Amino acid sequence: MKRTIGLTAMLLAGALTIPATQAQSEKPGVEKLYILNCGEGTAGDISRWSPGINEGKSMDFVDSCYLIKHAQGWFLWDTGIPDAVAAMPDGLKPADPKAVSWKRPKTLAAQLDQLGVKPSDIKAMAVSHTHPDHIGNVEMFPAAMLYVQKAEYEWPGANNQARFKAEHPVTKLEGDRDVFGDGSVTILSTPGHTPGHQSLLVKLPKTGTVVLSGDAVHFRDNWDNRRVLAMNADKEQTAASMQKIADMLTKEKAQLWINHDKAQRDGQKMSPEFYD
Ligand SMILES: [Zn+2]
Repeated sequence: MKRTIGLTAMLLAGALTIPATQAQSEKPGVEKLYILNCGEGTAGDISRWSPGINEGKSMDFVDSCYLIKHAQGWFLWDTGIPDAVAAMPDGLKPADPKAVSWKRPKTLAAQLDQLGVKPSDIKAMAVSHTHPDHIGNVEMFPAAMLYVQKAEYEWPGANNQARFKAEHPVTKLEGDRDVFGDGSVTILSTPGHTPGHQSLLVKLPKTGTVVLSGDAVHFRDNWDNRRVLAMNADKEQTAASMQKIADMLTKEKAQLWINHDKAQRDGQKMSPEFYD
C-alpha cells in the first residue's frame, strides 16, 4: 500500500512538472512545411542509379523543394530546376539519355507568390547538394544565408568554376547543424552522392519528425535495397550516409521523404496545402 502511494505521488509530481517545463520552453519552432513542385521529368534508364539492376527501365521523377515556416522566419530547402525551364516547351534534355529530362510545370516564384511569400522574406536556405536540379534558383534569394557543407562549397565545378557566387552570404558547415538552435530543423551531413551532400531533419508539431533525403537516395526501391549510384562521388560514404539516415529514422521515429520519388510524392499534400 505504502509503495502504491509512493508511486502515485511520484507520478503526480511528474505530471505536475510537465506543464511547468512547457511554459519555460519556447513555442514549437516549426509551424508549417510546404512541398513545392520544383520539376517533373522522366529518367531514360533507372539502372543509372543501380548498376546492373533495372536495365532499360524508365521512370517518372519529381523534384521537390520544401519551404519551412519557423517561428524565427522562413527557411527554404533546395531550389529545384531553374525557373527559366518553365518557358522551354521541351524542357531540359540531358546529355546522357539514361538521365532525367526535366520540365518545370510551375515556377518556384509563382508558388511562393501564391503563398504571399516574397523571395526577400526568406532569410535562410540550404541545398542538399550542387547538382543542377537542386541549385537552379539559389540566386532568386541573393541575401538569404546559405547553409552548405564546406566540402561542397569548395568542390571545384566544371572548368574549376566556383559552385556559388562569392558574394552570396554563406555559412560553411563541417558536419551537422541545428539551424535555429531549438532542434526543430537540423542539417545532417550525408556525403557520398557529392562530397558535401546533406539531408534535413525537421520536427513538425503534428506530423512528427521527417527526414528530407536530398539525393542520398533517389527512390524507394533503391532505399529498401540500399543501392548506390555508380556516378556518386564516394560509394562507401554513400552507404555510410544511408545507414546514418536509417539510424536517425529509428532514433527519432521519423519518416523519410525521398526528394525524387514520384510514387511517394503523389500521396503527399502539395503547396498551398501544408504539413503542420
Ligand atoms: Zn537530384
